[in-house]
Amino acid sequence: MKTSNSPERGKSCLDCGMEVSTTTKYCPKCDAELSLQSDGSIITEDIAHHGERVHEAMLKLDQLIEQGKADVTAKLRIIVGSGQIRDEANAILGGYLFRRDILGFEQDGNNQGAIIISLRR
Ligand SMILES: [Zn+2]
Repeated sequence: MKTSNSPERGKSCLDCGMEVSTTTKYCPKCDAELSLQSDGSIITEDIAHHGERVHEAMLKLDQLIEQGKADVTAKLRIIVGSGQIRDEANAILGGYLFRRDILGFEQDGNNQGAIIISLRR
């Protein structure tokens, strides 16, 4: 059974609706592995539009992945623009993928300025 997620911070088990803390690994009620649950959502974030320097954009990217992994987000859609930030983001995501911290990443169709990062199935 699927229940809708409450809008406030913290999260609930998507299988049984039990409220759990974001650090809990397994639902105390139904035993579901919470880190694998996803609501199928895609979150779009622009990390390159305030004239960020490359390292600032990479810091944002790290934070977004961290947040996404703690939450139930399925995918992140990151707007990286066309320059050095995009190249650096691809390199960093390669590292994430190598450590299996993400499931994969790819250019958003024909849009070279956006990258889709898969966190959960
Ligand atoms: Zn549960």
